[in-house]
Amino acid sequence: MHGVRPAALLVLVGLAVAITAEQGPQSSGSFLIVNARVVDGTGAPERRAAVRVVAGTIREVGNLQPRSDEALTDAGGLVLAPGFIDTHSHHDRGLLDAPEALAVVSQGITTIVVGQDGSSALPLAPWLARLERSPAAVNVASYVGHGTLRRQVLGADFRRAATSSEVARMQELARTEMEAGALGLSSGLEYDPGIYSAPSEVVAVASAVAASGGRYSSHIRSEDRRLFEAVDEVIDIGRQTGMPVQISHVKLAMRGLWGQADRLVAVLDKARAAGVNVTADIYPYTYWQSSMTVLFPARDFTNRREAEFVLRELVAPEGVLIVGFDERPEYVGRTVAEIAKARGLDAPATVMALIEESGNRGPGIVATSMDERDVERLIRWPFANICSDGALSGGHPRGFGAFPRVLGRYVRDRALLSLEEAVRRMTSLAAANVGLSDRGTIAPGKAADLVLFDPDRIIDRATTRDARALAEGVHKVWVNGQIVFRDRTSTAARPGRVIRHRAGQSPV
Ligand SMILES: [Zn+2]
Repeated sequence: MHGVRPAALLVLVGLAVAITAEQGPQSSGSFLIVNARVVDGTGAPERRAAVRVVAGTIREVGNLQPRSDEALTDAGGLVLAPGFIDTHSHHDRGLLDAPEALAVVSQGITTIVVGQDGSSALPLAPWLARLERSPAAVNVASYVGHGTLRRQVLGADFRRAATSSEVARMQELARTEMEAGALGLSSGLEYDPGIYSAPSEVVAVASAVAASGGRYSSHIRSEDRRLFEAVDEVIDIGRQTGMPVQISHVKLAMRGLWGQADRLVAVLDKARAAGVNVTADIYPYTYWQSSMTVLFPARDFTNRREAEFVLRELVAPEGVLIVGFDERPEYVGRTVAEIAKARGLDAPATVMALIEESGNRGPGIVATSMDERDVERLIRWPFANICSDGALSGGHPRGFGAFPRVLGRYVRDRALLSLEEAVRRMTSLAAANVGLSDRGTIAPGKAADLVLFDPDRIIDRATTRDARALAEGVHKVWVNGQIVFRDRTSTAARPGRVIRHRAGQSPV
């Protein structure tokens, strides 16, 4: 609001009152939510309470009586929680054209953190300003991507280590992006161009970000063959820079690693005990979505022995579903096993052929390579918050289902976590793990990002065959005090804010 003159403010307040009178509690102004089971995001036991919202901010929580001029919302005995914070999201793709963000709000997510896996808008400042001029339904924050900086500085010649002057240039760009409001540095070290960076380069760029008060979030260098080395690299960055470090979408994505979640948790706990603030986010599926090329870290797509290893150790042919393939759209929706059969080839030959036919970019795939027991063990780690890694129109069901899936499948059906703890992992812990300070709990002074859901009915419906099916059980979602989702549809409200980190301060 700063910069708005008092006269303008009066006009705005007047408008808000008029809208409230006409449209009821979904608009800005003062309203009271009564008859709710409040799960406040701290992990505290749920309690019956009313929540008063004034001008987009939570004003009071407790046994409150409605005022005569105040709109009332009856929560109907459902659970009222802070809006979920998706710490690893790709839902910004297409957001300007689809600002209602149905995939997001229908899950109860109210803030998305983008610029992930080393890839961000560059420069961030105009991108954020544009989002401020035409807001989305949800709040947006962004990292600055290491891969984006690397591509900017090295151009097409990125299959090599950077020189010291190139690293200095990346540091300079990183500082500029931090000033524009980035939360910190993201990396995608399994992807081009990040995969060609030396660890020392990443440390150097991360140090510049740490000096600007940022943090580090990493799609680590390997999620399969060299997982534990890659985890050590993240921890080392935390130790060397002193800043918080987060492992993106933590997983054990190789047959030979299955059952080693306890070992991984022990490594992380040991680092924490030694003073490194390492955390993780996780999505609740045994399959990921990416380019087929990530299966070949040496990018040796014509190496048949490597293709055989991939299909034996990382993914089975029937577990690789093509979800994007511009050159061969007829293959979308089919597995490698099916395509191999149709073409009369074996699976390794098929994989090599498909990558070649994609011009070595690789078809987009959803690939099963994790074990359910490891997913459960990692979800139980108290420093893991929930993320979606999803997109508005991605081929992976996580884009529409991740958060309801945790609440239905893992909380209600399997009692893996209490409801209060699961909500904490989606809200206050998520906020802490990306450095947000004014969201993530239901408490006076916090932004009125709220979700009302039925804990007995909430469940994801999206599948790999129907990745955009709406979840069930989410009744209402408010962002900054305005209703953005109800009755299974988006409203016309676009109250989302751009959340910027400011040097030396917690972002607000
Ligand atoms: Zn990733």
